[in-house]
Amino acid sequence: MIEGFETLAIHAGQEADPYTGAVVPPIYAVSTYKQDGVGGLRSGYEYSRSANPTRTALEECLAAIEGGARGLAFASGLAAEDTLLRTVCVPGDHVVIPDDAYGGTYRLFAKVLGRWGLEYDPVPLGDLAAVRAAVRPGVTKAIWVETPTNPLLGIADITALAEIAHSAGAVLLVDNTFASPYLQQPLALGADVVVHSTTKYVGGHSDVIGGALVARDAALGEELVYNQNAIGAVAGPFDAWLTLRGVKTLAVRMERHCDNAERVVELLQAHPRVTEVFYPGLAAHPGHEVAAKQMRRFGGMVSFRVAGGEEEAVAICDRTTVFTLGESLGGVESLIEHPGRMTHASAVGTPLEVPSDLIRLSVGIESVGDLLADLTQALGS
Ligand SMILES: *Cc1c(COP(=O)(O)O)cnc(C)c1O
Repeated sequence: MIEGFETLAIHAGQEADPYTGAVVPPIYAVSTYKQDGVGGLRSGYEYSRSANPTRTALEECLAAIEGGARGLAFASGLAAEDTLLRTVCVPGDHVVIPDDAYGGTYRLFAKVLGRWGLEYDPVPLGDLAAVRAAVRPGVTKAIWVETPTNPLLGIADITALAEIAHSAGAVLLVDNTFASPYLQQPLALGADVVVHSTTKYVGGHSDVIGGALVARDAALGEELVYNQNAIGAVAGPFDAWLTLRGVKTLAVRMERHCDNAERVVELLQAHPRVTEVFYPGLAAHPGHEVAAKQMRRFGGMVSFRVAGGEEEAVAICDRTTVFTLGESLGGVESLIEHPGRMTHASAVGTPLEVPSDLIRLSVGIESVGDLLADLTQALGS
């Protein structure tokens, strides 16, 4: 019985090709499949929106590494979220969302699903009393969790939130993008569905946009499969193949992301021009104990505030040379960004607005000495 994370990441869903023995699942660039007589499908494949063997390999692998009954791969993280929310909710239902949700998720609620009739309330998920107060029994159908959050690295207690959701007859949905399945296993903690932007750590090489869902139980998994086909936002075979290639090295990449992030945090904490560091691995972080309980390590994302306000924060982002100025995260290369003007620009004036002197780092897996030297020169003295 194979059960180690690394073994599953490399082998689950990836039997050698029965026809050629190819050890890597081929890219099945195909839309339709020959039937042996009407309805005589070979291995169940009929049309590639419904299922494609390259996508199946990725979906089985993701289900295995998240410990769920069913995995599904989508064209983007937001496509996965849209299909998920329109499966577990109908117009008139209510969802509790984090008050610091990923900007695109907030926009999906505010501008798209809100118009469709879905109600939502942003709540600080670290405050369990506030979550209990926001849940409307019989109307609230889901609690949406991100932990750690973007960009302030807030932590939510998945086990406690699952209890609140389930006692109200709602499901717990966890966006596990920031932690990755290697660092955090929400289904084992009581979540019903895990969501990923596989664009980030799961793919890991900044070369593909993708999303995924993993359902803990098969019945909800089948409802999601039905809507994945009905709505149609599937991952193409090339994208599925690139993502699957990324998954194989997820464990070793995450270990190095964490090693490098810890060193970056040490540097920032000791730096006179840094006023505050956000990292769940710090004992002083308000979510540290919960993070230590539910995460293997604390991840590769680090945010910090600087003296000199917005202008200085923007100038620092312009001065790094190894840290590339850009949005997104989770790739092998280090990225730096100014959330206030970039990823969170649309949040200005909403409950999700972030401090203007904040900088977010996605710490990559380069030589740590180069990363530290780059930050030192960019921060100045
Ligand atoms: C990027 C991201 C998404 C959206 O995923 P896309 O692949 O860009 O559609 C959702 N949640 C989190 C936490 C993200 O970082």
